[in-house]
Amino acid sequence: SPYSAADNRYETIPYRRSGRSGLDLPSISFGLWQKFGTDYPFATQREIILHAFDLGITHFDNADRYGPPHRAAQLTFGAVLSKDLAPYRDELILSTKAGNPIGASPYLRGGSRKSLVGSLEHSLRDLGTDYVDIFYHHSPDLETPLEETVGALVDVVRQGKALYVGISNYRPDRAHEIAELLRGEGVPLLIHQTRYSIYDRGPEQSGLLDTASADGFGVIVYSPLAQGLLTDKYLETIPEGARARNSAFLSPEVIDDTYRQRTAALNKIAESRGQSLAQLALQWVLRRPEVTSALIGASSTGQLDHNLAALSFPALTEEELALIEEHGVH
Ligand code: NDP
Repeated sequence: SPYSAADNRYETIPYRRSGRSGLDLPSISFGLWQKFGTDYPFATQREIILHAFDLGITHFDNADRYGPPHRAAQLTFGAVLSKDLAPYRDELILSTKAGNPIGASPYLRGGSRKSLVGSLEHSLRDLGTDYVDIFYHHSPDLETPLEETVGALVDVVRQGKALYVGISNYRPDRAHEIAELLRGEGVPLLIHQTRYSIYDRGPEQSGLLDTASADGFGVIVYSPLAQGLLTDKYLETIPEGARARNSAFLSPEVIDDTYRQRTAALNKIAESRGQSLAQLALQWVLRRPEVTSALIGASSTGQLDHNLAALSFPALTEEELALIEEHGVH
């Protein structure tokens, strides 16, 4: 049946401004890293994407790499875009990334102009759109002059193939450096995509969040649920079909006694607030004003509903934050 978006889709999610730009993002965004390739039924993938949009998730994050195989997740999204979401293109913030290896060729990796522009052209074809809203350099490439990467990012914006540019996985000093170069070209850095969760304090410890405020770029944080480790699903077992059973990126070995103890303690704090650990974990990353959006994955519409309910709980108190600190740090 033809898709028609929910009329109340802008009533659930608060939007946040990305740094000192003009762009608002939903406080929870959706990424297609896992289970959006040829490994999962298209009907389920489509249902999840459309449900996300119905809930007010306007931002969908992708990359040339996502699948499996590489590039498949963009074909999946492209199919939903052409079938269902095309009438809503103006309401969507689509992102893609380039620079992480997607093949043996030297042109299918890194921050060269050849790699970035070639990847974006291919991604636009796969997504079936003339432009992406955000184009990212996926991870730092210390062997390519930053000026070349900047030149490519600036040109795709000037050509209308991307509206904004971002970086991902850059350390604060290099993030600052590229922010300055981009500012100088009149194409300010919109956002930095980085991993952040109760179980990964990197952006706090490295000073990245401070750099973001100073340079005026937003921060979108990936794996805020630590790929599912910050839910209650692994407390007793490793459920059938869960990521820790079938992903190269989440080894079942991390689910040991130490993990179970820490996670059970955090789960208790969540229970005392009348919420789930997943919901607490999302509120925790969003407590920082530097964080524009929490970028989650989901393998069912039920997970999405559950996770979005995080937004309706009262803010974490100083006491609760201190307790989380006690249990969440390695
Ligand atoms: P999360 O930490 O949100 O993990 C999401 C996964 O956790 C789901 O796919 C699901 O896995 C499980 N899950 C989610 N909600 C629940 C719930 N309520 N109960 C139980 N299990 C749940 O984020 P991801 O690691 O998926 O990363 C999100 C996005 O971030 C990616 O899609 C990608 O766009 C981006 N990213 C960017 C990177 C970069 O280098 N720039 C690197 C990694 C991610 P399942 O049900 O399959 O177990």
